[in-house]
Amino acid sequence: MHEASLVRTLLRQVAELVAAQGGERAVSVNVEVGPLAGVEPLLLQEAFEHLRRDTVASEAALEIEYVPVTLRCRKCGHPQETIELRFQCGRCQSQEVDVVGGDAVVLRSVTIAIAEASSSL
Ligand SMILES: [Zn+2]
Repeated sequence: MHEASLVRTLLRQVAELVAAQGGERAVSVNVEVGPLAGVEPLLLQEAFEHLRRDTVASEAALEIEYVPVTLRCRKCGHPQETIELRFQCGRCQSQEVDVVGGDAVVLRSVTIAIAEASSSL
């Protein structure tokens, strides 16, 4: 399942971030999903709830933010969003455009809980 491997990658990134911040666990995980990511949000949510067990994100909420497909024209460099998935530059009409966003699941932010200091000094 495509979503499961994406979630595994996300959880790895989350664990690294939590560790890097000296945190205890993740409270929420915010991801960006574009229409070309080939991801079913419901399946992503399900995979997350299943795979978060025994990780630093075991109680974290997954927040999915939908972003449009963004293109950049190869000829004139014009950046643009496409709503109806028209792969043509809106400025020079060139069809040589690169998809620069909206084609992936991207980790945006993680809210981290820092462990209470329980020093016994
Ligand atoms: Zn152009």
